[in-house]
Amino acid sequence: MKKLPRVLIVEDESAIAELIAVNLRHNGFAPVWSSDGEAAQRELDAVLPDVILLDWMLPGQSGVALAKKWRADARTKAVPILMLTARGDEPDKVAGLDAGADDYITKPFSTQELLARMRAVLRRRAPEQVADSVTMGELVLDGATYRVSYQGQSLKLGPTEFKLLHYLMKHAERVHSRGQLLDKVWGDHVFIEERTVDVHVKRLRESLGDAGSMVETVRGAGYRLTVQGAGA
Ligand code: CA
Repeated sequence: MKKLPRVLIVEDESAIAELIAVNLRHNGFAPVWSSDGEAAQRELDAVLPDVILLDWMLPGQSGVALAKKWRADARTKAVPILMLTARGDEPDKVAGLDAGADDYITKPFSTQELLARMRAVLRRRAPEQVADSVTMGELVLDGATYRVSYQGQSLKLGPTEFKLLHYLMKHAERVHSRGQLLDKVWGDHVFIEERTVDVHVKRLRESLGDAGSMVETVRGAGYRLTVQGAGA
């Protein structure tokens, strides 16, 4: 049986913590709760979680101070941190991300939003999930060696184009909106504009050469990778 991802919730308001824990449990996560930084530290010393949900406003050490501390600590440095906050303004977001948080979510948030963000940070911290190979017609992507080839010719792709192509190949023949691609490939869209997707799609097409026509623009909807367009 697959181990459930362990989530450490650091939140002083028990009602909120309880609500989050219930929702996480229902969605295949194993939540544990600490009400302040000290309790959270004891928990981290005992068992390392897969992700930390860290409240901004805590008694004692603030969420930002804790994020900084855990980022600097070799044991906890690779654990994704998702900051929770009641504030929504830009300077705080920047401070949270500067402190080492992977993403930011503003209260009140929906369970769906929380789950989407958590899955995104977990994905970004799990590069092995790209370590498989996908084939579409004569286009081959090898996640283990980071190689892409078309008709046996190897192609040069940047890291973002590689991730984008990997996602499109895994979900081929379907139309993906820019927002969906940002969520799935970039992992969050706090600071990234949708136009960024267009830029990388353009680069991807250029890098693919003759296979570039496989990446179709669907007017008003987004992008699709299709084997129909190959060599056209
Ligand atoms: Ca709080």
